[in-house]
Amino acid sequence: MGKPTGFIEIERKKPATRPVEERLRDWREVYVPTDPQALRDQASRCMDCGIPFCHQGCPLGNLIPTWNDLVYRDRWRTASDRLHATNNFPEFTGRLCPAPCEASCVLGINDAPVTIKATEVAIVDRAFAEGWIAARPPARRTGKHVAVVGSGPAGLAAADQLNRAGHAVTVFERADRIGGLLRYGIPAFKLEKRVLDRRLALMAAEGVVFRTRAHVGIDVTADDLLSDFDGVVLAGGAAAPRDLRIAGRDLRGIHFAMDYLTAQNRRSEGDELSAGEYVSAAGRQVVIIGGGDTGADCLGTALRQAAAAVRQLEVMPRPPDARTSGNPWPEWPQIFRVSTAHEEGGERLFSVSTEEFLGDGHGRVRALRARRLDRVTVEGRPILQPVAGSDFELPADLVLLAMGFTGAERGGVLDQLGVRMTERGTVWRDDAWMTSVPGVFAAGDMQRGQSLIVWAIADGRSCARGVDAYLMGESELPAPV
Ligand SMILES: Cc1cc2nc3c(=O)[nH]c(=O)nc-3n(C[C@H](O)[C@H](O)[C@H](O)COP(=O)(O)OP(=O)(O)OC[C@H]3O[C@@H](n4cnc5c(N)ncnc54)[C@H](O)[C@@H]3O)c2cc1C
Ligand code: SF4
Repeated sequence: MGKPTGFIEIERKKPATRPVEERLRDWREVYVPTDPQALRDQASRCMDCGIPFCHQGCPLGNLIPTWNDLVYRDRWRTASDRLHATNNFPEFTGRLCPAPCEASCVLGINDAPVTIKATEVAIVDRAFAEGWIAARPPARRTGKHVAVVGSGPAGLAAADQLNRAGHAVTVFERADRIGGLLRYGIPAFKLEKRVLDRRLALMAAEGVVFRTRAHVGIDVTADDLLSDFDGVVLAGGAAAPRDLRIAGRDLRGIHFAMDYLTAQNRRSEGDELSAGEYVSAAGRQVVIIGGGDTGADCLGTALRQAAAAVRQLEVMPRPPDARTSGNPWPEWPQIFRVSTAHEEGGERLFSVSTEEFLGDGHGRVRALRARRLDRVTVEGRPILQPVAGSDFELPADLVLLAMGFTGAERGGVLDQLGVRMTERGTVWRDDAWMTSVPGVFAAGDMQRGQSLIVWAIADGRSCARGVDAYLMGESELPAPV
């Protein structure tokens, strides 16, 4: 523990963001780097608890008190080593993780938690800037070949671990660029793609082979994989979107959030998109259906595209501002959250259900009819009930559906392999991360359902251990989950 009185003397200070009017004019990251002295002060608030609940809060088991102490002592390089011991990609989690570690920080019981996530990203960014992170190909190769299907954080973490264990890894990605949702889902204002490219260049230099535009199930068959590789990891995500099949759904101007976000991300990468491919919110009345993080990403994107107005609808009631007695520490706080996109503008409506899309007479959406909901208790269970006479119309000439995902995309490689599925629409796997097909493993959202980057990395690490043990009879790779 660096400074025994740090948590008494120093207040939590959130990392700074660029001014809203400046960031709405570009696609660069919203946060600005924190200066080293401020980081040192924040790290010194860590109490190095006897039982560090933050370890349990972090799915990767990141050694948080250890690197807080090292930052306080100005030992950044060692801090980077300790961080990379448990996390392949701290530059992604340090930018994008909702930080369940902070929700379980002991200081959070009666004070503000330590700014763990900000320290994490500062350590890894400094390590890259100082040149401490360099390609380290494995000293020995095992002669075994592994195919990873999907290049999101789960596939990348599995590939990184298996390559370190000496296996020859090929990552197959159907898109034209590597990265999964890191590349085409998450907007650049949350993760600039140079951060992703920097890590991918390192992995390639260490021997991981990336094959883009390689749709397994179409360009490459499951039989090809089974005959050419000793092991296969399925990490194709859970991208089947939840639809809203109500009257007017077929009107033009209603899009899935992921299609909208992908087009903007492609454009930010410099791709030329046709008018049909690229959907712009410029001058439009935008309604986003779904109050979650994907919806917030659409909101930030629409504001940057100069929408006339943006409204985000959520069917659930507005959460409370602080924890309730039924949601105590160290549980994840079910509270009202304001993302950086919400700071930038737009309006949020809670307890609203969309009933119908209304057309303009020429096949385009012009508005939607919605209804207010009330939470009532029936036979001891809370339900949402329509409020009589509460129907109202909202102008909408661009509607974005951001209501979550229903599981792995069916058909294709999953059918060709004949893997067993769960009732939740995810790929079934055993405790060693193997699917019902011998030698075929699964990691990330494809077997968990839509989740978080930190879980995808943790899954990829654990799955790699399962694959390594299958190929070699034993494994020294870590398994955080
Ligand atoms: C818009 C959006 C924003 C998000 N923001 C955050 C955030 O800020 N923080 C956070 O923690 N989480 C966030 N998430 C969730 C997070 O991105 C996912 O949980 C995570 O990316 C899952 O990783 P994955 O590797 O399992 O799958 P994915 O990232 O979905 O990657 C799967 C990849 O597999 C490829 N693929 C699929 N099938 C095949 C095939 N047959 N052949 C070849 N390739 C194939 C796909 O093209 C894709 O590239 C967000 C999700 C969305 C949709
Ligand atoms: S990965 Fe997420 S939970 Fe783990 S230390 Fe980083 S911010 Fe916290």
